[in-house]
Amino acid sequence: MKQPAAGFTNFELTREFFHLPPGLTYLDGNSLGPLPRKLPASINRVLAEQWGELLIGAWEQAEWMVQPFRTGDRIGDLIGAPPGTVVVGDTLSVKVYQALGAALAMNPGRRIVLTDSGNFPSDLYMAEALLKTVGEGHQLKVVPPTEVCAQLNEDVAVLMLTEVDYRTGRRHEMTTLNKIARECGVITIWDLAHSVGAIEVDVSGSNADFAVGCTYKYLNGGPGAPAFIYVSKAIIDSVESPLTGWLGHSAPFKFSPSYDPGPGIARMRIGTPPVVGLFALDVALDVWELATIGDVAQRAAELTQSFIAGVERTCPEIELASPRDPASRGSHVSFRHPEGYAIMRTLIANRVIGDFREPDIMRFGFAPLYNGDGCVSTAIQELRKAIDLKPWESECFKVRAAVT
Ligand SMILES: *Cc1c(COP(=O)(O)O)cnc(C)c1O
Repeated sequence: MKQPAAGFTNFELTREFFHLPPGLTYLDGNSLGPLPRKLPASINRVLAEQWGELLIGAWEQAEWMVQPFRTGDRIGDLIGAPPGTVVVGDTLSVKVYQALGAALAMNPGRRIVLTDSGNFPSDLYMAEALLKTVGEGHQLKVVPPTEVCAQLNEDVAVLMLTEVDYRTGRRHEMTTLNKIARECGVITIWDLAHSVGAIEVDVSGSNADFAVGCTYKYLNGGPGAPAFIYVSKAIIDSVESPLTGWLGHSAPFKFSPSYDPGPGIARMRIGTPPVVGLFALDVALDVWELATIGDVAQRAAELTQSFIAGVERTCPEIELASPRDPASRGSHVSFRHPEGYAIMRTLIANRVIGDFREPDIMRFGFAPLYNGDGCVSTAIQELRKAIDLKPWESECFKVRAAVT
């Protein structure tokens, strides 16, 4: 789809689109985006009109069956994926497993899956379990992010990376890595969990083979919103999913006893789509009628840059854990402090919401759709106050909460 020109986005309108509790500085949209204001009423209406009145007939009459493709195409617009190459469903961990299984089948002679130590644990766990199930002696090779490029060679079956590091925000060079991977015959899988809706990504232009991502972070789809998977056009009609549910079948309602993959991206569906979650996600995606990803990424670079400068000026005792160059990072910024946990809990108690990641990372996500300059200055001031309180001396922060 053709994108509007730079400067199209009206950030006042996009801020209005969301509900945020008064007085809250919300810098955790990289974990869970806020509620779109119109969502509760739209979802009530849709439930009453479709589930309420049409019941089972809604699968066809309200087109619930094709919703995973429609919503997939809307996400595709944000990541450079042509129509018909993205489908929504399941959770991201499941989509990682599915992409990796399909990718391994494309490179049967090779035994190495290359990834990096900045990858999200769930991605690594899914890969470990899959390799064990396949039982052909594959090895998951986990190297530091800076060594990925040097480790790409003709022994590697699959390169599986998260583009933006969930802790530091460090961003991989997707175009360069895809090019080298392709020259070595390596299949690529990109996890866009911290990229989609935050920075500009071009999965088809950069020649990625597979991409996956979740929709409850920068896409604001809500808690437990479904994930998505992209498969490049060149391989979409030949990939074999390791998870073959009835809705990925070429004719689900023939109820054939054996599996025959559906056409194109349909084969990456598994079971019944999460219809209610898809409604919510679809409402949240309406904000992109008011914004372009180019403008959002540009504004995020400005906000994170001014946050870094302000924190370094005001709180010299904490150390930047993110790349300094905005082009080399995503939309969140992290700082290290040995007592980061207690400091972050204090910030949260004072209504500045970021999060903590082991062992010492304080993470602040900036989502320009609803975060502006005011959020930057409040967060800097409150951070200074929180450190001055020396909250680590207090008993109540000695034990970690269940969700950090
Ligand atoms: C958030 C995140 C996940 C979460 O996976 P779910 O199955 O949706 O819980 C996985 N991978 C990455 C890189 C993430 O950032």
